[in-house]
Amino acid sequence: MTARILDGKAIAARLRLDLKAEIARLADKHGRAPGLAVILVGEDAASQVYVRNKKKACLDIGLISEEFSQTLPAQTSQQHLLGLIAELNANPKVDGILVQMPVPEHIDPETIIEAIDPGKDVDGFHPYNVGRLAARMPALRSCTPYGCMKLLEETGVDLHGQEAVIVGASNIVGRPMALELLLAGATVTVAHKFTRNLQEHIERADIVVAAAGKPGLVRGEWIKKDAIVIDVGINHGNDGKLTGDVEFESAAQRTAWITPVPGGVGPMTITMLLSNTVQAFREHLGDNQ
Ligand code: NAD
Repeated sequence: MTARILDGKAIAARLRLDLKAEIARLADKHGRAPGLAVILVGEDAASQVYVRNKKKACLDIGLISEEFSQTLPAQTSQQHLLGLIAELNANPKVDGILVQMPVPEHIDPETIIEAIDPGKDVDGFHPYNVGRLAARMPALRSCTPYGCMKLLEETGVDLHGQEAVIVGASNIVGRPMALELLLAGATVTVAHKFTRNLQEHIERADIVVAAAGKPGLVRGEWIKKDAIVIDVGINHGNDGKLTGDVEFESAAQRTAWITPVPGGVGPMTITMLLSNTVQAFREHLGDNQ
């Protein structure tokens, strides 16, 4: 069968239109729109692009971001950054706070993440929010795994009892992804760099989520017939092209559904950040309608 493409770009565009309408309604009701502070420390080129895209996405749907966002020089001290986070935590107009990772080496990322009010942690990285997900009481969910779950939802496939194999065990993708799939009733295996015989795991997977950052790590011929493949990997080829962690062409011969790279998970990640900011806003204002 021919693989159906999980078009993250189109799905994200649809979700953002829904969010835009919801924000207009909420702003009208509460007299202000949700606010997201995006903090960048240093001049990392990739981070600058990510931050620009996030701010533009906010502007497009009516979230207030520019007013609260800052770019700080690379030599900014950890203490200064913590002071800024404390101010944003206390600012009632700020519903979400995002510190773009990675931060410069003299700053400890865990200390920064833990300093953000968990109710404003729209990246979903704070141990409180990860713990809520682990305890089956999700609050603000990590954006990339949350976006992957939305993509899986689009397939209409019931996830209960599905064999899911996640490749990668990072704090921002693999681990929360495992918790999401477990919550959804899948049987979950997490593979990582010490896993022996990755192929064996992939071959029995109904769902593969690849997030290792290794181009072509998951061979197309390993994929079980009619599996669903979500490729989180973003790898920059020498030819300037982006590829995922899965061999797309050969995998797509076998899958029921597969995400492209680019245009799969990427647009969903930012969308879930926007959605989390709206969720945080509603919770701050006690608006459950
Ligand atoms: P990371 O480097 O923090 O983690 C990579 C994980 O892959 C580790 O757990 C490691 O053990 C595992 N791994 C490495 N080699 C492996 C192998 N041979 N077999 C099995 N597992 C292996 O990376 P990350 O931050 O989790 O990101 C992973 C990829 O996803 C990167 O390409 C990144 O750019 C991409 N990413 C995409 C989005 C998006 O929105 N599309 C968001 C976050 C990350």
